[in-house]
Amino acid sequence: MTTMENPSMELGEDYPDIRESVRRICADFPGEYWNGLDEKLAYPEEFVRALTESGFLGALIPEEYGGSGMPLRAAAVILEEIHATGCNAGACHAQMYTMGTLLRHGSQEQKQKYLPKIGSGELRLQAFGVTEPTSGTDTTKLKTRAERQGDHYVVNGQKVWTSRALHSDLMLLLARTTPYDAVEKKSDGISVFLVDMREALGNGLEIRPIKAMVNHNATEVFFDNLKIPADSLIGEEGKGFRYILDGMNAERILVSSEAIGDARWFIETAARYASERTVFGRPIGMNQGIQFPIARAYTQMKAADLMLRKAAALFAAGLPCGEEANIGKLLASEASWMAAEACMQTHGGFGFATEYHVERKWRETRLFQIAPISTNLILSYVGQHVLGMPRSF
Ligand SMILES: Cc1cc2nc3c(=O)[nH]c(=O)nc-3n(C[C@H](O)[C@H](O)[C@H](O)COP(=O)(O)OP(=O)(O)OC[C@H]3O[C@@H](n4cnc5c(N)ncnc54)[C@H](O)[C@@H]3O)c2cc1C
Repeated sequence: MTTMENPSMELGEDYPDIRESVRRICADFPGEYWNGLDEKLAYPEEFVRALTESGFLGALIPEEYGGSGMPLRAAAVILEEIHATGCNAGACHAQMYTMGTLLRHGSQEQKQKYLPKIGSGELRLQAFGVTEPTSGTDTTKLKTRAERQGDHYVVNGQKVWTSRALHSDLMLLLARTTPYDAVEKKSDGISVFLVDMREALGNGLEIRPIKAMVNHNATEVFFDNLKIPADSLIGEEGKGFRYILDGMNAERILVSSEAIGDARWFIETAARYASERTVFGRPIGMNQGIQFPIARAYTQMKAADLMLRKAAALFAAGLPCGEEANIGKLLASEASWMAAEACMQTHGGFGFATEYHVERKWRETRLFQIAPISTNLILSYVGQHVLGMPRSF
């Protein structure tokens, strides 16, 4: 395959037109806008509207359903650029990474019903309910149950850390349809549902915000005999865990692109400040104790970026990319944190002043080492699935 056939392998600034358009949109949403939201833990309605109207949020929706049908790498570039300008895609990125489950496993009727409306912004698919308070990373032990009763399912249970649930119309929900002790393989018996939360709220669905270190609009979600129509089920009953796993590589690549964008923002901000701030009669960036951590973060960001481009190219070619997507996620989340630390240290006390936006971005980028998947779980993937060492769970 040549780079002409697969733009994901182009080096340098690929998709320059998309990058430029995203930068233009983001210019209307400066750091003060994000600080204002942060103080009130508010949702960036105007930003999400601008991105939706530009068509960027529908990048992965096929053209036949009103989207622009772009490859994964293009979506990754959109998210990277949003973060590199100092904005945050956390308010709306779930639409991109949950899309694959609906596209690959949804019925024609489900796709016709939802995709055009998601693309136009009439409906938001921004909530993804996987994590539960008791089972945590051990997803197959999730306790939320969906029991078939005639033409509907009855859902009982609880999710935690469900981002954006109060700002989304639809939720992709993972629930057990066959109890854990009644399945042969622990990953069997879990199903995926597309829940219309507009009808459910107050009728068996309760959502409570969680006050958190970052403004991710995180919530706790409670299901108490919630009745959902049987046609909310995506694909076949009991195969949901596999459907979600199918989408994991895409999710890793997309989220890591945000970390790359953050790293670029930190490095650029730190390098500029280091060149301008004068102490002891010279720019602080002349001191290698300041200069080298920024330079080192840059080298790490570039290495992570290269791994992610490889992952996206393999994904586009329909080839296995688990190793590259996982390694790319680990490298990108660590590169962005390294860059955040260098930027914070370079700013000294001013790094703590909210008007410099460093502390907010620093808090935000820490998340990538924990969600959507924590570093240890990535290392266990590499140890067990890539290097063939014994399984620990
Ligand atoms: C701001 C925010 C937004 C989020 N949004 C969503 C969302 O929209 N939807 C959703 O479903 N979830 C969401 N999450 C949840 C997130 O995906 C989980 O927090 C994350 O996967 C870790 O799970 P846990 O918190 O239950 O940690 P635990 O599973 O309790 O793990 C705690 C620590 O122990 C480590 N650990 C656990 N088991 C092992 C092991 N066998 N070997 C080595 N180390 C281990 C983990 O790596 C982790 O560091 C969000 C979280 C946050 C903080």
